[in-house]
Amino acid sequence: MRPTCESCACDLPPGGEAYICSYECTWCAECRDGFPGHVCPNCGGDLQRRPTRVVRPADG
Ligand SMILES: [Zn+2]
Ligand SMILES: [Zn+2]
Repeated sequence: MRPTCESCACDLPPGGEAYICSYECTWCAECRDGFPGHVCPNCGGDLQRRPTRVVRPADG
């Protein structure tokens, strides 16, 4: 699981919104919104919302 967007290199915290394709290319929501057809620009695969971690910090 990558910690940054492959396009703009912004931080993608575990609980935040991020999208991955089946090859685990990782993108932030803003970049994903700009992709034609909302598919991965690297491999053309479907982008899925990245699952959030089950274990969370105590605060929240
Ligand atoms: Zn991005
Ligand atoms: Zn991809």
